[in-house]
Amino acid sequence: MTLRLLPETLVNRIAAGEVVERPASVVKELVENSIDAGARNIDIVIRDGGQTLISIDDDGIGMSGDEIALCVQRHATSKLPDDDLIHIATLGFRGEALPSIGGVARLSIVSRADGSNDGWALSVEGGTRKGPEPAGRTKGTRVEVRDLFYATPARLKFLKTPRTEQNHAVEIVNRLAMAHPEIGFTLSDGNRTVINLSPAQGREQGELFAARLDRLTAIMGREFADNAMLIEAVRENVQLTGYASLPTLNRGNAAMQFLFVNGRPVRDKLLVGALRGAYRDFLASDRYPMVALFLDVPPGAVDVNVHPAKTEVRFRDAGLVRGLIVSALKHALADAGHRASTTVSNSALGAFRPGSGLASWPGGSGGGASYSPQLAERSTEYHQPLPHLSTTPTARTMEHVDADGVVHEMEMPEYPLGVARAQLHATYVVAQTADGIVIVDQHAAHERLVHERIKNALEQDGVARQGLLIPEVVDLDEPSVDRLIARADELAELGLVIEQFGPGTIVVRETPALLGEMDIKSLIRNLADDLAESDETLALKDSLGDVCATMACHSSIRAGRLLNGDEMNTLLREMEATPHSGQCSHGRPTYVELKLHDIEKLFGRR
Ligand code: ADP
Ligand code: MG
Repeated sequence: MTLRLLPETLVNRIAAGEVVERPASVVKELVENSIDAGARNIDIVIRDGGQTLISIDDDGIGMSGDEIALCVQRHATSKLPDDDLIHIATLGFRGEALPSIGGVARLSIVSRADGSNDGWALSVEGGTRKGPEPAGRTKGTRVEVRDLFYATPARLKFLKTPRTEQNHAVEIVNRLAMAHPEIGFTLSDGNRTVINLSPAQGREQGELFAARLDRLTAIMGREFADNAMLIEAVRENVQLTGYASLPTLNRGNAAMQFLFVNGRPVRDKLLVGALRGAYRDFLASDRYPMVALFLDVPPGAVDVNVHPAKTEVRFRDAGLVRGLIVSALKHALADAGHRASTTVSNSALGAFRPGSGLASWPGGSGGGASYSPQLAERSTEYHQPLPHLSTTPTARTMEHVDADGVVHEMEMPEYPLGVARAQLHATYVVAQTADGIVIVDQHAAHERLVHERIKNALEQDGVARQGLLIPEVVDLDEPSVDRLIARADELAELGLVIEQFGPGTIVVRETPALLGEMDIKSLIRNLADDLAESDETLALKDSLGDVCATMACHSSIRAGRLLNGDEMNTLLREMEATPHSGQCSHGRPTYVELKLHDIEKLFGRR
């Protein structure tokens, strides 16, 4: 064996193993360079998922002839002027991307520096450089990468279908674009424009905020904008801004959860945990809120030099950052507790849209003119959080027609959730409000109320229990009995006192007083099922939402029970006085509200 320094080509290829994992990583590095170069517009072309061609064109500061010659050398960077790894203000800083890409693909660069009259071209193929030579070019830079991994066939084998690779690239560009609304982005696959985001105009603080929401909307969808809570918080020198969805807007995976640290998209377990903590009481554990959060931290408080791909960061005080995120989200959730989802009522309204059979219905106005109440268009106004719910209602009059057809003016107190008018299908309470109707899912609402009551009781002097005159004996399989008995102390704290009675039998002696009469047998069976699925290391109090939901399910107001007027109004008043009553413990809305305005649209009156 001979000890030797490896030739540069080989070194670059080895480094490429870390920096260039797939076409999307090339796109990421090149787009980051364009952003660092101060581009206003970045145009991307990807062919065959990036395997045959990746081209990035920007209008940034560009490079001079000398710079272009240097940029493909290892550790050549213009971004660490003071040899300081602490104050990194750019996305790049390692000077590795271009040489690495040049090591595994055919790379060509054309650039013209800002203020210069001449453009320069350079290419690298199989480690050999050609150029720089003069080339025509407007201000800015175009980098083209062809035949990715031709020099490292092993890597080529790991590429997925062009479609999948393209999707990865699109996702990367979207993430970068979310952090930079001031930059326009396009991405085409050669036939189709997949991304088309125009640069935001204003540069004032307020304009930038609006621009950010516009950009997020373009990427995360209209629904997100309509159902997002604004997040703003500061702790020490760490600033948190962004948007998070109401619990009623959620997804089955974490793909719509974005975190940015000083403008850099990062993936961080810290975010996942913080979101779990903040939404614990509102979302089932397999549902994920949609969020885009932007952290601004002083450069010294975060280390971005953890991995060559720069998607991980290390916070000096992770606890502080986590605490900031959790408390900001909890505050926002508390404020939004009564805001019902617009998504839900909008799509329900959509469902009411008359079918084509009604298009020209006799007696309709306009002599058979087509009838289109424009329901598709979403109402732009947000559902404001209900005005202070626990305050005394203000009086308002309403007309009441008696049996003889005489109209009486009646005082009608203006409760935010209105006055109950009917119960339908033994499940829905319909209430009339000052300017619309509210439909309450009594089961979901009750579940939330029970959850909040138990939570309050736990925080104060414990959950009151009520002894059963005749203890209830429940037969179960042995593992279920074991699981329940293992949790007996915790269940007792929640108001449910159980004892083992034999190998496959449990006896229930006391139940939570606030639940009233309940179907104890099925409650115990369901709790056993819940425990079988739940995390054994987690305290029951931490999955309180689930436990309460199960308990509430088996108590009195569950769906299917007929309620009288007083019971219905009591439910509405209690909802108004209870925080978070807009959603059940699983993130579904407990009520929807249709404004008269929207109902009028349904009937083509507007
Ligand atoms: P890094 O971004 O870490 O500095 P790169 O290998 O990605 O390393 O780029 C090397 C250098 O090339 C950059 O520091 C920059 O000076 C120059 N460069 C790369 N891309 C561009 C571009 N699109 N516009 C202007 N300069 C660029
Ligand atoms: Mg770079």
